[in-house]
Amino acid sequence: MTDTPQDRPLEVACPQCRTKVAWTTENPYRPFCSKRCRLLDLGAWADESHRIAGEPAMDEADLDRLIDGLERGESS
Ligand SMILES: [Zn+2]
Repeated sequence: MTDTPQDRPLEVACPQCRTKVAWTTENPYRPFCSKRCRLLDLGAWADESHRIAGEPAMDEADLDRLIDGLERGESS
């Protein structure tokens, strides 16, 4: 076998659509195949964190409170 590892970039399956994608620095969305898949996966993850009760995840209400506090501190 004349298999040269450097000519064969590591292949991973896109977590979103399972497309085989080369793990290279040329792919800024790795391990995803595309920006779309990365956003979809992040969206699904964020959506899940909203549904899990009791998880110390930052939701929109927490962010609102945080921003509100920062704004009040800055404007006073
Ligand atoms: Zn994909």
